[in-house]
Amino acid sequence: MKDNNCIFCKIANGEIPSRTIYENDLFRVILDNGPATEGHALVLPKDHYANLFEIPADTAAEAMKTAQTVAAMLKEKLHADGLNLVQNNGETAGQTVHHFHMHIIPRYKGDGQNILWKPGHPSDQELDAVLGRIKG
Ligand code: 5GP
Ligand code: ZN
Repeated sequence: MKDNNCIFCKIANGEIPSRTIYENDLFRVILDNGPATEGHALVLPKDHYANLFEIPADTAAEAMKTAQTVAAMLKEKLHADGLNLVQNNGETAGQTVHHFHMHIIPRYKGDGQNILWKPGHPSDQELDAVLGRIKG
């Protein structure tokens, strides 16, 4: 299913041109037009799912396989030193386009990006409390 108001639906299905680096039956992989680094790519399913909570498990599994193929391609062709896979869900988590996508971000020594988080310092009791809430 497509969403007529969704820009990534239009890109994924070729209605809007994009810099496509890889394509298969289920996905189009394009260059991000606001890249964190050289070669920053987006894995877009051709069907519309807003986020990780909506995409079917088998399609999510195929998204990861597609990301793996493209990651190897970018590492080889662009000589990346490392690579981040990022996938945002919800505005609070930084999602700006509400069509599921995976970011493939090649990393280069000295690229100046910092795709990390500030570690917390919870007590054992606080960690146990979270564990209890998740498993309870
Ligand atoms: P999000 O913040 O939702 O995880 O990521 C959205 C990404 O899509 C951003 O990195 C942004 O640069 C990229 N983006 C948004 N609109 C377009 C577009 O029209 N074309 C391309 N190639 N990338 C886009
Ligand atoms: Zn869409």
